[in-house]
Amino acid sequence: MNRIAIVTGGAGFIGSHMVDNLLAKGLSVRVIDNLSTGRLGNLDHVKNNSELVVDTRDLNDIPESDLIYRDVSFIFHFAGLGDIVPSIETPYPYMKSNVMGTVKLMEGARIGKVPRVVYAASSSCYGLADTPTSENHPLNPEYPYALSKLQGEMAALHWGKLYNMGVNSIRMFNVYGTRSKTNGVYGAVMGVFLKQKLEGAPFTVVGDGNQTRDFVYVTDVVEGFWKVASSSVSGEVFNIGAGKPRSINELVKLLGGQVIFIPKRPGEPDETFANISKIKSVVGWEPSISFEEGVREILKNIDYWREAPLWTPESIEKATSSWFNSLS
Ligand code: UDP
Repeated sequence: MNRIAIVTGGAGFIGSHMVDNLLAKGLSVRVIDNLSTGRLGNLDHVKNNSELVVDTRDLNDIPESDLIYRDVSFIFHFAGLGDIVPSIETPYPYMKSNVMGTVKLMEGARIGKVPRVVYAASSSCYGLADTPTSENHPLNPEYPYALSKLQGEMAALHWGKLYNMGVNSIRMFNVYGTRSKTNGVYGAVMGVFLKQKLEGAPFTVVGDGNQTRDFVYVTDVVEGFWKVASSSVSGEVFNIGAGKPRSINELVKLLGGQVIFIPKRPGEPDETFANISKIKSVVGWEPSISFEEGVREILKNIDYWREAPLWTPESIEKATSSWFNSLS
C-alpha cells in the first residue's frame, strides 16, 4: 500500500503543488480544503487520479477521531487565511482559521498517531528584519495575519514537544509560481503584475522599485517541505527562500512593460533575504529554479490570471487605506 499524506489547503496555490509533488513520488494524498480561497481548478489536472481524495470540510469541523487521520504518514499544513489587509479589517477569522484550525489539526494528528507534520509558516513573523534573516532573528509580527501564522506555528511545535510528535515548521519568504491566487483581494505582486501585463496596463511599482524580495519558486518550496518531512529532525524551524533577493525593477524587466509608480507602504521592508543555511545543511535542500526560469514559466501560463482583478493606482490606494491607517 502507498504511504498516505494529508495536504491541508491542497486546493490552494502552494498546497496544490505539494499534491503534485507527492503524487509524483507515489504517495496517496488526502486533501483537506474548505475552498474558502482554494480552487478545485488547481487540482483539475489530477482529478481522475485514484490516489487523490478531496475533503472540503473546514478543519475546525473535523473531529480529531475522524478516519481521515488514520494510517497517515505525513501531514503538510497549508490551510489558512492569507493577505494582510483583510486581516487588519477582520482579524477574528484569521485567528480562528490559522490558530484554532491548526490546534484542531494537531489534535487529529495526535489521536491518529501521525508521525510527521510540517507546518507552513510565514516569514512575516520577523517583521522589519535585519538581513540576511536567520531563524533565530527576533520575532515581531506586525498585523493579525502574521500573528496568527506565528501562533499557529507555536501551537504545532508545542504539540510536537508535549506529545512527542515529529513536527517542524517552514517559514516561507516570497513564494511565486503558477496558480498563485487570483481572488479579489490586493495581494502578492506577481498576480497583480501578470494581470496588468495581460491587459497592457502599466505595472504599479511601489516606491522606486529598487526594493528587493527573496522570490523562491513554488516547486522548489514543496520539495523543501518533502525533504523536511522525510528527514528524522523534529521540533525545528527552517527558513525557505532562494537566498538571493531580486528587485521589483528586475522583475519588471523580465516581464516587460510600462510602469507607473505608487507610494511606498508603511512597514514595508526594503529587502527580504532569507538565510537558508540551516535547511541546506540539515536536510540538504537547495533551490534549483532561477528567477529567470521561474518568471519564464509563469509567463508561459499567464492565461491563468485572465480572471484576476486588474489593479490600478486608484483601486490600490482604496484597497490599502486600512493598511496605511493602521501601520504608519
Ligand atoms: N509591489 C509592487 N507593486 C504592487 C505590489 C507589490 O511594486 O502592486 C512590490 C512591493 O513593494 C514589494 C514586492 O512587490 O517590494 C513584493 O510585495 P508582496 O506584497 O508580493 O510581498 P511582501 O511585500 O509581503 O514581501
